[in-house]
Amino acid sequence: MTEPDVASSDATNISTSIVRDGDEYVINGRKWWSSGAGDPRCKIAIVMGKTDTSASKHEQQSMILVPLDTPGVKIERMLPVFGYDDAPHGHAEIHYDNVRVPAENMLWEEGKGFAIAQGRLGPGRIHHCMRLIGLAERALEDLCNRIQEKETFGKKLSEQGVIQEWIADSRIEIEQARLLTLKAAYMMDTVGNKIAKAEIAMIKVVAPNMALKVLDRAIQAHGGAGVSDDFTLAYHWANARTLRLADGPDEVHRRQIAKLELRKYK
Ligand SMILES: Cc1cc2nc3c(=O)[nH]c(=O)nc-3n(C[C@H](O)[C@H](O)[C@H](O)COP(=O)(O)OP(=O)(O)OC[C@H]3O[C@@H](n4cnc5c(N)ncnc54)[C@H](O)[C@@H]3O)c2cc1C
Repeated sequence: MTEPDVASSDATNISTSIVRDGDEYVINGRKWWSSGAGDPRCKIAIVMGKTDTSASKHEQQSMILVPLDTPGVKIERMLPVFGYDDAPHGHAEIHYDNVRVPAENMLWEEGKGFAIAQGRLGPGRIHHCMRLIGLAERALEDLCNRIQEKETFGKKLSEQGVIQEWIADSRIEIEQARLLTLKAAYMMDTVGNKIAKAEIAMIKVVAPNMALKVLDRAIQAHGGAGVSDDFTLAYHWANARTLRLADGPDEVHRRQIAKLELRKYK
């Protein structure tokens, strides 16, 4: 979905063109942050673009399958995340220059790009949140193990009140996030993704921010070792930080939550 030339957190801006020409569609545009495209096993891209700029705002977009070996598809570069290359997974900038694919590659039908995105983003988002909770658990475990080993000013780090507070706050925040994630999952299962959209948006804000706080405390407790590659904390922090952006930035989810809340007062 995401394009370097437009603010893609408002997906109506996405401007890659997908134009029907006989039995084919012709695709022109530039995408970036196409995750997974660096993996040699990745053979096909799902590309979102506009098929009808005169349609209503949320029906201009479509999604189409594009084999990566189609002439005109060019992986320009892989984008690092805080210097990590995420190989072999990788996040690519890809140019589509007069790329022709059979008309049958259209997913569902023209104009359904937003509907498909909405359907996929709910489960995708909660999946990120579940993994972030696991990541935070791992960071808290690392923190607790590390402070048993180290001593400063005549006391083990585990006996320092400040560090005990970090542990307590981390445990509280992890449990809060876990319960909200479980609620969102329960609602997705019982009333569906559409009605659960407020909970999905809430957990998508809560989980990355929670994980970042816990990771930051764990890094601090490790001292310099925490930002090195000897431990996984720095890499996990970098990864968790991207999830305040990927699948929608915090501000866009907060906007959605506020809109749904205000709707109750109309
Ligand atoms: C590691 C990584 C992997 C990714 N993988 C994929 C992928 O596989 N496929 C894909 O399509 N995209 C992917 N993305 C892209 C990601 O989804 C976008 O970066 C994100 O949606 C934001 O779009 P943008 O970068 O164009 O930022 P912009 O739209 O330019 O937004 C910039 C900032 O503006 C602020 N903002 C936006 N709207 C509002 C508002 N209403 N109120 C206040 N502030 C606002 C937010 O802080 C936002 O971060 C990935 C990104 C990263 C970092």
